[in-house]
Amino acid sequence: MLDYDILIVGGGGAGLYAALWAAENTILKVAVMTKVYPTRSHTGAAEGGINAVLTHSVGDSPDAHAYDTVKGSDFLADQDAVDIMCKMGAAVIYDIAHRGVPFSRRPDGRIAQRPFGGASFPRTCYAADKTGFYILQTLYEQCLKNNVTFLNEWFLLSLIHNGEKIEGVTAWDVRNGGVHLIRTKAVILATGGHARVYWNRSSNALGNTGDGTAAALRAGLPLKDMEFIQFHPTGLAKTGILVTEGARGEGGYLRNRDGERFMKRYAPEKMELAPRDIVARAIQTEINEGRGCGEKGDYVCLDLTHLGEERINERLPQTREHAILYEGVDPVKEPIPIAPTAHYSMGGIDTDKMGRTEIKGLYAAGECACISVHGANRLGGNSLLDILVFGRLTALEAVKYADEAPETNPSLAVQKDDERKIIELMENDGKERLADLRRELGEVMMNHFGVFREETSMKEGLQKLYEIKERAKHVKVYDMGKRFNTDLISVLEFLNLVDLSIPIALPAIERRESRGAHARTDYPERDDKNFLKHSIVKRNGSGDLVLDWKPVRITKFQPEERKY
Ligand SMILES: Cc1cc2nc3c(=O)[nH]c(=O)nc-3n(C[C@H](O)[C@H](O)[C@H](O)COP(=O)(O)OP(=O)(O)OC[C@H]3O[C@@H](n4cnc5c(N)ncnc54)[C@H](O)[C@@H]3O)c2cc1C
Repeated sequence: MLDYDILIVGGGGAGLYAALWAAENTILKVAVMTKVYPTRSHTGAAEGGINAVLTHSVGDSPDAHAYDTVKGSDFLADQDAVDIMCKMGAAVIYDIAHRGVPFSRRPDGRIAQRPFGGASFPRTCYAADKTGFYILQTLYEQCLKNNVTFLNEWFLLSLIHNGEKIEGVTAWDVRNGGVHLIRTKAVILATGGHARVYWNRSSNALGNTGDGTAAALRAGLPLKDMEFIQFHPTGLAKTGILVTEGARGEGGYLRNRDGERFMKRYAPEKMELAPRDIVARAIQTEINEGRGCGEKGDYVCLDLTHLGEERINERLPQTREHAILYEGVDPVKEPIPIAPTAHYSMGGIDTDKMGRTEIKGLYAAGECACISVHGANRLGGNSLLDILVFGRLTALEAVKYADEAPETNPSLAVQKDDERKIIELMENDGKERLADLRRELGEVMMNHFGVFREETSMKEGLQKLYEIKERAKHVKVYDMGKRFNTDLISVLEFLNLVDLSIPIALPAIERRESRGAHARTDYPERDDKNFLKHSIVKRNGSGDLVLDWKPVRITKFQPEERKY
């Protein structure tokens, strides 16, 4: 049995920043467990930047940032948490800059900031269009310097708690095989998002399968606002790979088949820089109404040609590279074909404003958590800020807790159960193929719970999800080995996606209004009277999923109509 004081599951931005702040503030044993090498976490794919009001952001304020965030969230965010995030922005940016993140600079040497969707000031700090990559590399180096222990290529299976406090976790050792029990006083889940539930069209890393969120659900913890999935407006048409919002921040235009800048009909003031839910819906409407480009009319164009080669090379080098590599189009010369792609999970593990869950010693931070600072729609650039602010705060909470907490004594039952489940999985009749089921799951999610939603279609979709869940019991594992059994891991990841798909569907059907990313054609208006509340899905004692609601914390900003 392995033994730590604070175990952080996830080596992305949230996990590494948590580990760093924990390691610097305690002499307790801090470890990071991650299923891939930390530097391969999805944070490394973040391009556009990270929002914060800095000392030289003249005319801007943390309050203005908070207002934009709450308005962007369609008033579903908890405003006390938003306030914390926006007030801590500058502290976090200067901290990571001093630790080595090479932010792009203005001619006077100060950190440069670019405009982003839904923001009333240019407050997105960036390092070219590789911001997440630089943050992740820097934090990893800093963790090594501070002697954080890494369990690389270990796969979290289950959480162990006694109904009151956390006692440990179980995990699969990817390199050697085998289910292990890890004893720890505190756990921070930082396992990232689950937008890969839309398997066939997502901007996410293949590993964004919500493993920690699914483990929390199985352990009886509530998930919040799962119906809210963000579709990013600009995924490359062929693959769904992301083109950063920074491309529009730098002045890119969206055009339909007639060359029209159609955003003027949807958000006359903000145009291309309206929030993502609005731009994604506008693009989808253009496509649905026959104004899409190409032979099938299934995409629109992102035009950067007027920016010129020099600016594109300086500010958007990765965007150019991806467009050439994956779409065969050089944005210096021609517009890039794009369409919405599943991008971000606003919902996740229900926590309070300090990342605490119902179980003592168990915290969640980053995209797997729903704190909630993004409500029904996240603003671009706010996730990198969220993961760092709350990674750091949960670390300090975990240190405080673990400093006082007695040794835990986790029961062996969960480990035995996980061992049995893996044997059953490998020995089932193997009637179903992973690739087929995973593709079908992605199709059901996109067709029935996509950019636009409607009751009859969602109910049909839910039935199909139940069928997939049944069939998933028969999915074949081909590799019977122990070492680096990536086949087994893929199946475990898929089962987590299936576990999360129904908690997305249930509140999506019951939320009979349109708010943020949840756009219903049968209920096109927001309904504050009945639905200004968070949805909660959890398992009851007999393992069934139950839906409940929870109030939104409103402090300064009263709900108003959302216009851009
Ligand atoms: C292409 C793209 C571009 C983006 N650009 C921006 C941007 O410019 N600005 C912005 O603010 N946001 C952006 N986002 C969103 C933002 O990058 C993410 O929300 C954020 O990085 C998530 O960080 P995280 O630490 O929570 O999770 P991740 O970085 O996804 O890390 C998750 C970690 O958990 C580990 N893990 C998962 N499951 C297990 C398991 N079973 N066992 C052990 N370990 C596990 C993984 O190994 C990984 O280390 C972008 C997202 C994408 C996909």
